[in-house]
Amino acid sequence: MSSDQTTSDLAGAASLPRAVLWDMDGTLLDSEKHWDVAVRDLSRWLGGEMSEQTRLATVGASSAGALRVIFDSLGLAHEPEALAAAKEWMYSRVETLFADGLEWRPGAREALTMVREAGLSTALVTNTERRLTETALDVMGRHFFDASVCGDEVPAGKPAPDPYLRGAQLLGLDPRDCVAVEDSPTGTAAATAAGCAVLVVPGGVIDVPTGPGRLFRDSLVGLTSADLAAVQGCIRT
Ligand SMILES: [Mg+2]
Repeated sequence: MSSDQTTSDLAGAASLPRAVLWDMDGTLLDSEKHWDVAVRDLSRWLGGEMSEQTRLATVGASSAGALRVIFDSLGLAHEPEALAAAKEWMYSRVETLFADGLEWRPGAREALTMVREAGLSTALVTNTERRLTETALDVMGRHFFDASVCGDEVPAGKPAPDPYLRGAQLLGLDPRDCVAVEDSPTGTAAATAAGCAVLVVPGGVIDVPTGPGRLFRDSLVGLTSADLAAVQGCIRT
């Protein structure tokens, strides 16, 4: 090795992740507020006001998971037809709200651009189903993502590791070489279970527990490739 500079450069390059796996709702898009309105309206439609405890249990959940929580909170049986009708109602409500205006989380668009310019692979890894994700992809720009995984395309949604395992697989990578970016405890648990290092950018609705392989940041504003290297590094130490 000829100089310290070379050594340091190699060390830096070695610690960059191969890919970034992006959560969507609450991480890239300020869409948790739309889900908040939709699940509360759904609860009312099904027969009762939603408690804060129930609301928190639905944050970052798959739609099937959220529906189970809401049905349980209202004492409703998990009848397949009733669940299907509730899901349709909720998705229609969210579609309307998305159409009225989807907004980026602070720094999200710039962070996506930075990751692209750094030459890293990317996948969108969301619990939201394909139907709504397609609308969101149109808004965000499909060029930001090499692949996308939706909640209805894996055996189990977050907090199960399946969506992140599938995201890494679609990119041909080991999840341990990928950094996930998440805002919720549910999504962070999924990424950790898949073996990804996680950059946690809390949305403020509910706290994400600290733990090994997790680094926290207040927002995506000013995110650099060095920051991503630091996240990747925290899973190897
Ligand atoms: Mg989220």
